[in-house]
Amino acid sequence: MESKKRVAYFYDPEIGSYYYGPGHPMKPHRLRLTHSLVIHYGLANLMEVYRPRPAVERELQAFHADDYIHFLKSVTPDNKDEHLEQLRRFCVGEDCPVFTGLYRYCQIYTGASIGGAVKLNYRNADVVVNWMGGLHHAKKAEASGFCYINDIVLAILELLKHHARVLYVDIDIHHGDGVEEAFLATDRVLTVSLHKFGDGFFPGTGDLHNCGQGRGKGYSVNVPLKDGMTDEAYTFLFRPVMRRVMEIYQPEVIVFHTGADSLAGDRLGAFNLTMKGHADCQQFMLQFGVPMLVLGGGGYKINNVARCWAYETGRILGQELGDELPENEYQDAFAPDFRLHPPVRAEVENLNTREYLQQLLSKLMANLSRLRPPDGVPFAERPPDTLSADEVEAQQPPRGHLWDGTPAADADSGSYGGARGRGARVDMAADSGADGPDMHGRAGEGGGNAVARPLKALALNGGSLVGAPPGRDPAALLRAMR
Ligand SMILES: [Zn+2]
Repeated sequence: MESKKRVAYFYDPEIGSYYYGPGHPMKPHRLRLTHSLVIHYGLANLMEVYRPRPAVERELQAFHADDYIHFLKSVTPDNKDEHLEQLRRFCVGEDCPVFTGLYRYCQIYTGASIGGAVKLNYRNADVVVNWMGGLHHAKKAEASGFCYINDIVLAILELLKHHARVLYVDIDIHHGDGVEEAFLATDRVLTVSLHKFGDGFFPGTGDLHNCGQGRGKGYSVNVPLKDGMTDEAYTFLFRPVMRRVMEIYQPEVIVFHTGADSLAGDRLGAFNLTMKGHADCQQFMLQFGVPMLVLGGGGYKINNVARCWAYETGRILGQELGDELPENEYQDAFAPDFRLHPPVRAEVENLNTREYLQQLLSKLMANLSRLRPPDGVPFAERPPDTLSADEVEAQQPPRGHLWDGTPAADADSGSYGGARGRGARVDMAADSGADGPDMHGRAGEGGGNAVARPLKALALNGGSLVGAPPGRDPAALLRAMR
């Protein structure tokens, strides 16, 4: 059945060219594979496809520290030895390496998430998809877990300009620590993260009893899990918890983090979810009919990430995709079966016993029962929009038109709107791969140096909201809006 939802999809053909370095498990190239399947399954004809306007410095400052942004902007592989103190201070170097075009990469994925938020604010779409986004570990002045700029926090801040309550749901296998921490002390954002917890698994936060602070007490929901989660075990917790969250919290908009490292067979993950089980979580949330910003996230077996996100794009659009993959530019990545749903081998023993899951569910429900219902939060002051209503209107392309191929305007020029602005359409054709996977001597999964490095466990920083310059502190923004 075709969906009646108005779906907007953000993609920038540049994103797949960024390269974290030899052997690094995070491969932006996976986004090319994803987009290629989306295109060749014919899904682009069923939604509006946009190339994002890269986020500008001023937008990043809504959450991140000025000196951290300046550092990201100026550091390069060639000059990084001149920045040793900053590399240490901002935790850049190992998990989060310096690579060519790093700042631009951040601008692109963040511009798409903020652009998606603006679309939802103006009700120009029911669902916005940005598989490039979802970098949930980044902190105010610290890179973490392959993430530099936290596009999710910035998108939520944008949504809070128009919405009283935002629900954030995170099914990545890692705790959504950066987002939780940013909104720890407010009841205007309720975060729910289901993740592996314990055994020193990154990032080490997200235990059941960590549930927020001050006015935000109870509004951070953590579901700590053990290795081997199956679809059945996941559903057992996810549905009742999320149903109760929706009943009590009544969010006006949902941000859904679709990290694909919770799938079976991931290089860093240890769950046994199938794509169907993964997508069912998203579908469960969509059925409430609340506008949703859908973001990517982790996912380190890149052909499966592409399968999963293409499949989920199809589900969002109400399309059941055929199991035989369409011909595409990256065919070899899907060998040997060339199927959308290759057989899933549950390779990890499920350590989540029935008793454990039942106890966990009871505790989660008890915590949720203590939440007070929403009280119609008044807007004391609403900060200016990132785009004006007219500009948003101006960026609406006529249906069926293709982007003309002109590169996006310079990121920091400060100009908005127009055909090249945030809403400029992306070429409907999958990018040709002219500067393709071999440009950096890597060919995705099969490359010669594809050893996944373990994520190092980093201590939590002391609280991202402390010490922000006046007027830019998101906590102040939140206080102003209460
Ligand atoms: Zn992850």
